[in-house]
Amino acid sequence: MTDRPRAYKTEGVILRRRNIGEADTIFTVFSASLGKFDAIARGVRKARSHMRGHLEPLTRSRLMLARGRSLDVFTQAETIDPYRHLHEDLEQSALGVYCCELIDRFGAENMEQEDVYLLLVDTLAAIDGGAPGHIARYFEVQLLALTGYALRLHGCALCNARLPEEDTLISAPAGGLVCIACRARAGTGRIISVRAVKVLRFASSTTLERFAALRIDPDTEHEVALAIGESLRTALDRDPASARYLEQVRRLTPAAERPMNAEPERLEPADSI
Ligand SMILES: [Zn+2]
Repeated sequence: MTDRPRAYKTEGVILRRRNIGEADTIFTVFSASLGKFDAIARGVRKARSHMRGHLEPLTRSRLMLARGRSLDVFTQAETIDPYRHLHEDLEQSALGVYCCELIDRFGAENMEQEDVYLLLVDTLAAIDGGAPGHIARYFEVQLLALTGYALRLHGCALCNARLPEEDTLISAPAGGLVCIACRARAGTGRIISVRAVKVLRFASSTTLERFAALRIDPDTEHEVALAIGESLRTALDRDPASARYLEQVRRLTPAAERPMNAEPERLEPADSI
C-alpha cells in the first residue's frame, strides 16, 4: 500500500461527520499537511469517550491517527480552537458551514494544501471574532485562486485588452471580466458595476483583515455574490447547498444587527479598469 507510518499526527478542521453503527463516527477532516481525508472514531458517541467534544464539525483540532485497513482510526484528539462564538450565532455558524462546504467540494484528497488550510482557519477565526458576512466573498475569491480557478479581473479574460472604467461583463465560462469586443463569444455572464469590479479586485489582492473592515453597500455585495456564485458553480458544476441556507439565514437577520469588529475602511481605488 503506502509507506505512511502506522501512527501519525496532524491538525485539521472537522468538516462533517457521519454516524456508523451504535457509537462510531466517520469524520471528514481538512488538514494542512494531508488535505481532505475521512477517518473513523470508534466509540466516540459513548459518554465516556475522551475524544468527545474534540471531534465536532467546525472545530480545529490536533489529531493522532493509526492506520487502518480501509479507514484510518482516530486515537487522540485535542481542540485547538472550538470557534465558540461562531457556534452560538445562527448567521455566523451558517457562514462557517458554508466555508467548510466549499472546502469539502474544492479540497483535494490526501494532498497537502497548506495555503487553502490557512485561508480556512483564518476565515473561521475571523467569523468567530464577529467579521461581517461579506467575508465570505473574500473566502470565495481567494479559494478560487488557490485551487486553480482564479478570476481574470485585470484585462479581458479572452483577449487581454484593457477594460474601460464602466459596467463590464463577467463570465464564468470565460473565467472573468470580458471586453465589449469579446462579449459574443464569452458564453453566459452578467453585467456588473464598476464598484462591484473594484470589490472583486480588492478581494483578490488584499488581506482578510482589510477586506473584513471594508464597507460594502448591500446592492454591490449582492452583485459580487451573484458573480462569484456563477464562477463557483462553473468550477464545481453544481450549487453548494449551504449557499442557499446562508442566504435564507441572512434574510432573517437585519443588516444593522450584524456585528462588526473593525473600523470600516474606504474601498481602495482600482489600479486599472
Ligand atoms: Zn476581449
